[in-house]
Amino acid sequence: MIVCFDIGGTAIKGAVATGPDDIRQFPRIPTPTDDFDAFVAALRTVIDAAGGRPDCVALSIAGIIDPDTRRAVVANIPCIHGRTLVADLEAALVLPVVVANDADCFVLAEAGLGAGRGHRVVFGVILGTGVGGGLVIDGKLINSDGGFAGEWGHGPVAATEAGNPPVHLPRFSCGCGQMGCIDATCSARGLERLHHHIHGTRLTSEEIIEAWSKGDAAAGRTIDVYVDVIASPLALVVNVTGATILPVGGGLSNAPNLILAIDEAVRRRILRRFAHPIVIPAECRMEPGLIGAALLGLETAAAAKR
Ligand SMILES: [Zn+2]
Repeated sequence: MIVCFDIGGTAIKGAVATGPDDIRQFPRIPTPTDDFDAFVAALRTVIDAAGGRPDCVALSIAGIIDPDTRRAVVANIPCIHGRTLVADLEAALVLPVVVANDADCFVLAEAGLGAGRGHRVVFGVILGTGVGGGLVIDGKLINSDGGFAGEWGHGPVAATEAGNPPVHLPRFSCGCGQMGCIDATCSARGLERLHHHIHGTRLTSEEIIEAWSKGDAAAGRTIDVYVDVIASPLALVVNVTGATILPVGGGLSNAPNLILAIDEAVRRRILRRFAHPIVIPAECRMEPGLIGAALLGLETAAAAKR
């Protein structure tokens, strides 16, 4: 039996799992953001209610663990930000602890129980507030130690000419400190930035997608440019990893027509010919972070027994 958590900025979701088919969720609890002892106590309420000593405690966090310093980078939770989180929690809980990035947990969930079932190489894509991803091969999370693998959204690779006819695009500045990241151009805010750059009007990403869906020409132009920008780096990801399925989560995945347009553009730009969509909406719509943490915890516990 393992206990798992999805650590959000406002709420902690907890669950107890004995196997992939038996993940029992507990009521969510508010996240203590400024007091580490209170944070540990919150986790302990779920662990104590699990009914026995868990083999392992698994956490999904909206951040990364620096592989060199072992320190967590979790901007929205000050009491765990900068801590050697795994060591500190293992000392406080006296249990084995494993921590993974939430995008990595998302792809674990999709590979194990979602759209990636039956595929050897699954690349999970997050398109929402940010652009991220994760890679699972043969059921194993690649580079679970840190959370950097699969982060295709950062680095100055966004095209500066896109669409037909081409429009010149600036290198938008990104929260990571670089310019021209896919995150800065193709996240929900990036889509809004693109629309404003092309048309000079400010709409939300939902409004842009809705207008495009209704045949609005200006919104259609923005989506055309957006799809052109995002498809090339994603096609490169497919060529490099050999992924045969790319489940998409995050807010923009709620627009199936947008995911379809991205899929068609990606498939035109890769070497392998697929006769069916490979970039598709995720299937684990409910709690992918928690389900992924459960699968990671179960795998970690099983590996410890081998
Ligand atoms: Zn960036």
